[in-house]
Formats: sequence, structure tokens, C-alpha cells
Amino acid sequence: MGTPMVNVSNFVSAVQSRLKNSVVGYSGVIGGAAIPAAKFSAGSARTAANGQSFPFESSTPTGVGSVSKFITAIAAVQLLDRPDAGGVVGWNILNATLDSPMYLGLPTYWDLRHDIQAITYRDLLTHTSGLAAESSQGEPGQDYFSLKTYLSPTPALGTPALGPRGSYAYSNVGFALFRLLLPNVVGLVATEPPGQYEQDRAFEYATKFQAILNDNLWGQLGITGPSQGTPAGADHAFMYVYPGSSPGYDFSQWQYPEQTWPGEGQPLIAGAATCWASIDQFTPVLDSINKIDQRLLTPAQWSHMQGIDVPSGYEGYGMGIDRLTVTLENNQYRWVEKNGGLGAFVSTGGGSLTTSVAFFGESGANPNNGPFYAALFINSDILAGPGSEDGWFICTKCESLFKPANGNVCPANGKAHTQGSQYILSNNQPGGQSNWRQCSKCSALCYEPAATDPSKCPADGGRHTPTGNTFVLSQTGQATLEIQANWRWCKNCGVLAYSAGNASAGKCAAGGPHQFILSDDNYAIEAPLNADGVLIEAFSKSI
Ligand SMILES: [Zn+2]
Ligand SMILES: [Zn+2]
Ligand SMILES: [Zn+2]
Repeated sequence: MGTPMVNVSNFVSAVQSRLKNSVVGYSGVIGGAAIPAAKFSAGSARTAANGQSFPFESSTPTGVGSVSKFITAIAAVQLLDRPDAGGVVGWNILNATLDSPMYLGLPTYWDLRHDIQAITYRDLLTHTSGLAAESSQGEPGQDYFSLKTYLSPTPALGTPALGPRGSYAYSNVGFALFRLLLPNVVGLVATEPPGQYEQDRAFEYATKFQAILNDNLWGQLGITGPSQGTPAGADHAFMYVYPGSSPGYDFSQWQYPEQTWPGEGQPLIAGAATCWASIDQFTPVLDSINKIDQRLLTPAQWSHMQGIDVPSGYEGYGMGIDRLTVTLENNQYRWVEKNGGLGAFVSTGGGSLTTSVAFFGESGANPNNGPFYAALFINSDILAGPGSEDGWFICTKCESLFKPANGNVCPANGKAHTQGSQYILSNNQPGGQSNWRQCSKCSALCYEPAATDPSKCPADGGRHTPTGNTFVLSQTGQATLEIQANWRWCKNCGVLAYSAGNASAGKCAAGGPHQFILSDDNYAIEAPLNADGVLIEAFSKSI
């Protein structure tokens, strides 16, 4: 693994130049074990479209989305991953460790299904429990009552089956359970059945979970203010669609589906997806962990969170962490990262946010080797560039690029294409190839400027019907963090499909897989950039 020198001012400049005229507002920080924190902010926390405009600053409270899983994991590790866990009466009344069955920490009066009995706390923290994956069909909600039904012997109709324990499947419900588990580990919530006051009990769990974070995490560093719900006061960031000329979304209005408890719903689903904090409040947490000053985590606990020195089968899985390394130009570097995102659209406004926290570099004699930490909170999407159009997807069944539309037919099964990763096309690509258009019958991107070009549409077996905007594709074949190469034109049906470097792939309307001419153009397609990608890009430009 490489040990690079990092130029902190180049890192900051790289973030600033990428986000200039591309986001509504942001704040970020980079600091090292022997280098003071450099904070940087720009743009607006709220724009004039929501009344009064004011700047995004390092003190601006922001929803961090799934970066809250990193916070949840710290709190779980503090309680369950210590030499005396399971052996001391008093604070850990369940005598639980990371490898204890987690069902013993659920409310004792819940009627539980039996197939979850082997799941441990460590399984939940590493997304290897088999519980419902993010965005899976029928994924349960993260509120108390949805979790109770999901874990009962009679889950709701359409709930996904329990996956194999030990296989990675990113699960929000697996992290939301800690809102109930940690208060029970510490014995903060009554165990008798709540009878008609079960909604009050659900609220009590939410309150006690926040109390654990306040005492064991934020409070250890003297930080006050972070909360699961939108913070009090009128200075938190709203979420926008760039450039923020339309009203943004205020998450303080949000309630979960079928919520009956008055007020906002975020605290009632906390654990996996919600936490509000500013860069000023997050910086001491990242700094303490990066220095391993032991105010939050011991050296062993921080190693375990990074998938180091853990039991067999869990090596290389972070706890509350998405990524442990990054490869840039064939060099692999330590890059320990958790990202987050939220989005909401209602009649009064809408938008998204994207967030990331990262640890990188190694300890050594030279402070420019690190270790370093960084964070970046952005309250909108990141514009791809002028003339761009997002909302294109790879079809996971036929490998074609398509954009959902009225006509939508997949050659793999004759039904609508199946949405995979998102991509961005542009009509403004200097030096690229023009004349790519969408077929109005099958939704795929195709190339047939002449009536004699190959064309076969899965909708009716005739030629595609190219319609609407004309897109320009890069023929460079150059992949970067934001750009994926190895997209190819199929010589039998005329669509763009992902080749993975092979001469054939996917399913073709002309029969069999798509067929590519590998000596022909290698197209490079842009993927949306999030806060984690901005930080990695800045790292690559500062070493
Ligand atoms: Zn398809
Ligand atoms: Zn077609
Ligand atoms: Zn084809």
C-alpha cells in the first residue's frame, strides 16, 4: 500500500475548483495528526427561493444521511468491543459483546421469528446479517413498528426473505435496530410490555439512543448540538436541486409513512439514516479518532472498525464504513470512508444532499504522510456540466444504456429495462461523436444517422425510432473516477451497451448477446459524482 505525501492546500483547492458553480452550498475540512484543521465553505445553506438567503458555513447544521452509521458504529463499538464487555455487571446489563446474538437485545415482549437468532451485533455493523438490503423490493421501514413486524414470525406480505448470513448486503434496517439495541444493552428503557402506550415506548427508545450518543460520543469531546431530528433554531441547511432557484426541502417537516406520533419523524427512524451536525461539530470527532487519543476509541477498537484484527470471515469489512482502500493509477492507498445521501421532493420544494467522511495516509515521521481526516457536506446535487442530462441507467438484464420513458422494452424479457447504476449524457462534449439519440419505442440509446445503419428494436422487431435530444459521446476510452470506459456500439442492434472489455455482452434484440467491434470506438460515459468522489478526486490531485 502506498504512503503518499499529501499537500493540504492542493487538496482544498481541488475540492473548491470542482464544486465552483456546481453545487448550492458546502462546508468541508481536512486535518492531520500533526497538521491543524483547514476548514473551507462556500455557497448558500438556504437560497432566496426559500425567503431569506444565507451562507453555508462550518457552523451550519446539516443532515449527514448515512454518515450517521459511522456515529452509530462508534457508539456500538464503545459498548460491545472492550475486554470487559460481557463480564462487568452494571453498565452492560446484557453482558453482550460484538459476537453475541443481537435478538437478546431487542424488546423482550416482541414475538420474534426464529431465523434471526444467529445474527450478531458484528453482522449488523458489517452488513453481513442477511437482513433486508437497501432498496430491495418490499424493504421494511426503519421505525419501531415496521421493525417489530419485520422481525415477527409473520412479516408483512412482500417482505424480502432473509439472505445468507456472511454475505455483504448493505442494510438500513440492520443499523436502525441499534436505536433499540443500545438502550437495552445499557438498560435505559423499561422491559415490561407497554400495552396501549407502545408509541410512547418507541419515542422513549429514540430519546435514549440520542442520550447515549450525547453522553458517550459528542459529550466526551464537549460538543453540544448534534441531534437525530432537525436541530432547534433557524440556521440549518435545506436540500436543493442546483442552482437552487427553486424552493429546497426542509427536513423538519418529514414524517415516516403511517406515522401517528406528532412532530417530525427523523428521531423515530434514527440509527441508519439521520443525524444533524455541522463541520465544526464533526471535526473534533474525526480529529480524536485520527489521532487515536483514546477519548472516543482505543487503538484496538479503531482497528476493528477498519476491518483489521477481526475474526475470520470479517476481514476487510469495516463497521459503519463503506470503503477501506482506493486504487489510483494502479497504486492502492488507505482510504477509510463513509458516505451519505438524502433526497426528498414534495409539492413545496425538493432537493438532495451528499456527504462523506474519510481517513487516509499513514502515521510516520513526516506529518505530510498523515494520518489525515477529511469531511465534506454538500446541500444539493453536483452539476455534471453544461448541456448534461442525468437520469440514464444501465439495464442490468441487457447491458444497454437507457432512460426510463413511455416506450421501454428490454430484449432480455420483453418487459421494461431493469435500472442499474446511473449515468450522465451530454450534448456538449468537445471532440466527441454526435448523432446518438434515444429510441422512443424501447428507451435505449442508439446510433443510426443513416437508414442503412444496423438497427433492431426489441419493441417490434423493426428499426429503432430515434427521437428528441442528440447526445455527444466521448470516444477516448479513458476511465477516471467519474468516467467509465468500455461502452460499445452493438453492430447487430445499434444500441450502446457495456462490454466490460469483452467482444459480446448482455442480450441483443437481434438474438444472443450484443456483438461489439473491439477495434472500433471505445466510449467513455460519465457517472454522477457524490461527496465521496469529490474527496477521492482531491486526494488524487494532492499527492
Ligand atoms: Zn434491458
Ligand atoms: Zn428501439
Ligand atoms: Zn445488440
